[in-house]
Amino acid sequence: MYPSNLNEREKVIEIWNSNTLSSDSFTFIINPTLRCNFNCWYCYENHRNAPIMNNDILERTKALIGQTIERTNLIKLSFFGGETLLEFSRIVKPLIEYTENAVSKVNKDIQISFTTNGFLLTPSMIDFLSQHYVKFMQITLDGGKQTHNKTRISKGKDSFDTITSNIESLLNKGISVTLRINVTPANISECKDITSWIKGFQMIARNFYQLTYNRFGKHLKKLT
Ligand code: SF4
Repeated sequence: MYPSNLNEREKVIEIWNSNTLSSDSFTFIINPTLRCNFNCWYCYENHRNAPIMNNDILERTKALIGQTIERTNLIKLSFFGGETLLEFSRIVKPLIEYTENAVSKVNKDIQISFTTNGFLLTPSMIDFLSQHYVKFMQITLDGGKQTHNKTRISKGKDSFDTITSNIESLLNKGISVTLRINVTPANISECKDITSWIKGFQMIARNFYQLTYNRFGKHLKKLT
């Protein structure tokens, strides 16, 4: 509870300034596109005609990063979507390369993270990410293989197998992954499949994952 005589506008400005003008770090949350290669039934995004970052915004983002580096010690890039990796070549890679180059000139630090569905990762992308300050990715699975594949439908490739294989490649390269498992009454029995899969990780990979189970949406009441 705030006292009734508090000037809320001034308070908001004060909090904003202390966050944004801090010399410790500055976080850019970058949304390259709201489009996605999947179409999960629960997704809050409307993927039809969803926007993509254009070249003008890309250049302006670089300029803002360039200006911000002067007054902070650590630049954090957090990529968020839609599916961020749909715009890997045009937006993600150039922004990472620009920022890395800019911070190296002034001896500042950089940290990069992603929220992604993990399906579009390729070996060359994973190599690039592991060599360019990417320390953390959050990837969601919709339960075990059976349920996941019904939600994250992919023509041609098994989406569960592809994503879990990509997760192992990330972990083996030293990139931390938070695995977010959407749990419903329909898929809770499959969680043991995920445990068995994790037990098979190579030793190095075991140091880099974190597992979270997320009781899911409209099913919350049924599970409690
Ligand atoms: S993977 Fe994520 S962004 Fe893509 S449709 Fe599913 S919930 Fe939406």
